Amino acid sequence: MLHALISLGLGGAVLLSLGLLLWSRRDRAFESTASVADAYDRWTDDRLLERLWGEHVHLGFYGQPPRRRDFRHAKEAFVHELVRWSGLDQLPRGSTLLDVGCGIGGSARILARDYGFDVLGISISPGQIRRAQELTPAGLSCRFAVMDALNLELADGSFDAVWSVEAGPHMPDKQRYADELLRVLRPGGRLAVADWNRRDAAVKPLNRLERWVMHQLLVQWAHPEFASIPGFQRNLEHSPGLTVDTDDWSRQTLPSWIESILEGVRRPGAVLGLGPRAVLMGLRETPTLLLMHWGFATGMMQFGVFRARKPG
Ligand code: SAH
Repeated sequence: MLHALISLGLGGAVLLSLGLLLWSRRDRAFESTASVADAYDRWTDDRLLERLWGEHVHLGFYGQPPRRRDFRHAKEAFVHELVRWSGLDQLPRGSTLLDVGCGIGGSARILARDYGFDVLGISISPGQIRRAQELTPAGLSCRFAVMDALNLELADGSFDAVWSVEAGPHMPDKQRYADELLRVLRPGGRLAVADWNRRDAAVKPLNRLERWVMHQLLVQWAHPEFASIPGFQRNLEHSPGLTVDTDDWSRQTLPSWIESILEGVRRPGAVLGLGPRAVLMGLRETPTLLLMHWGFATGMMQFGVFRARKPG
C-alpha cells in the first residue's frame, strides 16, 4: 500500500514537473497566422480539448450565484445569451450568418439548428474545419471553410449577421479584423463579437506583476496582443455612422477558468484514455488557465462583448 502511494506520488511529481517544463517552453508564441493555424491544428488533432470541453472552444455563461451549471451547458448558454444580447434573435430564420474563427463549429451548429440561420463558419485551422465538417449532421444549414479573418474571400455586404467569439486575441491587426467583419455585413445587418480584452492602459497601466502575467497570457496561446474594450470599440466605430454597444461579462464567465481545470479531474477517463502524452498536455495548460482566472478576477483582463447594427 505504502509502495503504491509512493509510486503514485512520484509519478505525479514527475508528470507535474514535465508539465511545468513544457509550459516554460515558448513554442506556441504568435509568429504569424500560420503559427495560429498550427497551434489549433495540434489542439484539434490530439482531441484533448474536445474530450474535455466538448464542441465549444469558448467560455461558459454563468448567471447569478450559486452558479451551479455544468461547464458544457454553460458554454451552450453563452451562445444563447450572446444571441439575445446582440439582437440576433430579431433576424428571421433563413438569415445568412458568418462565424469568424468558428473553432470546431459548436456555436455555428447551435445558430443553424436553434435559430434557423444559414451559417458559414471560417477558421484559419484546416484541422478544425475538417473536424467541424465531421461533427455537422447532413441537412443542417451549416458549412465550413478555411479562411483568414484578415483577408475574407467573401463579397462586401454578403451576410445578414456576423458573429465572432474569442478569435480577436489572435489577430495581429485589430483594425483590419474590425474592418473585415463589417465589410462583409450587409447594411442593416447585425454584428455580435465576444473578446478577451486587456484593461485600458488609459484607466490604469499594468504594474510589474501584471506585465509578467500578461506576457504569459500572450506567449502561451499564440496571441499577438489583446485589444481593450474601448480600443476595439473604436476600431469598429471607424466604420462610418456605426454605433457600437459594449459590455463586460467578466463576472458571468469567470467560473469557466477553474471549471476548465476541474473538467480534467471530473473526467479523468477522457484524458487518461488518450495516453500519458495527453495527461502531460493537460498539465501544461493548467498554469495558463490559473493565470487567466487571476487576470479576469483582478480586472487586468476583461471579457468584452460588442454589438452593432450596420447603418442601412
Ligand atoms: N469561436 C470558436 C473558437 C474560438 S477559438 C468557439 O467559440 O468555439 C479561436 C478561433 O479563432 C479558432 O477557431 C482559430 O482558428 C480562429 N482564428 C484565429 N486566427 C484566425 C484568423 N486569422 N483567421 C481565421 N480564424 C482565426
